Amino acid sequence: MLTLTSIDALRQWRTRQTGSVGFVPTMGALHDGHASLIRRSAVENTATLVSIFVNPAQFGPNEDLDKYPRTLEADLRLCAAAGAQAVFTPDTAMMYPPGFATWVTVEGLTDKLCGRSRPGHFRGVTTVVTKLFNLAQPARAYFGQKDAQQALVLTRMARELNMPLEVITCPTVREPDGLAMSSRNRYLDADQRRRALALVRSLRAIEAAFAAGTRDVPTLRQTGLDVLTPEVDRVDYLEILDAGDLSEIAVVQGKALCAVAAFVGTTRLIDNVLLGA
Ligand code: AMP
Repeated sequence: MLTLTSIDALRQWRTRQTGSVGFVPTMGALHDGHASLIRRSAVENTATLVSIFVNPAQFGPNEDLDKYPRTLEADLRLCAAAGAQAVFTPDTAMMYPPGFATWVTVEGLTDKLCGRSRPGHFRGVTTVVTKLFNLAQPARAYFGQKDAQQALVLTRMARELNMPLEVITCPTVREPDGLAMSSRNRYLDADQRRRALALVRSLRAIEAAFAAGTRDVPTLRQTGLDVLTPEVDRVDYLEILDAGDLSEIAVVQGKALCAVAAFVGTTRLIDNVLLGA
């Protein structure tokens, strides 16, 4: 497996590829959720490229950019074991040279959920992913359902900007007790790790109520909040929205996205499930 540390090295690697390239963009601190995307890409493409870049443009001023975990050596081992051929590890100055002024935005979808509590976050994501797509020129790019809104936004962006690739959304990988795997889980101490389970438990409670026939969104939402609120330090949101366009719904009829974000200590965690899928 090659480590490509410059844009030139990536371009040269790309011109040498004769088959399809699968691409998995990440911010590093890799875990089995990331590995599942790499493994899927390795099955579906001739070569798989992973990027590891902690993208400053998607962090707000009071977020965890500086303390975001950086574990490059272990990450490279995970990428190789999962079947990647190359890993692109640019630095910030390469991706955002002085005077950088070009941004890609998706409107509407990005005003909801995480976009509301993290202004500018999705503009950072769509811009860096566009740059990475232009460099990697993949046939397929793989994202996790764990970041459901991100997957929707990037699917929309690729379609509306006629990007010649397929955006593929892969299932959320969980710890044995149900906690969604996340690079941010390593911030949690033992008590916080235990309380963090309230996110998935609140989603499971909503799924159970849905399975028992409840379709009224305020009732489903309250079922989740009753589980979540006592355990976490702050609920950012718990919402049940149309799974296609994130519009508000009063009753679950088609497919709905049930998404939660909450702080445990100072760590902001997210999770989601689909209802009626
Ligand atoms: P990140 O490094 O957090 O930016 O994530 C890189 C990619 O991995 C994104 O497409 C995420 O949605 C995906 N991902 C992160 N955690 C998980 C997980 N637990 N299961 C599946 N995909 C994940």
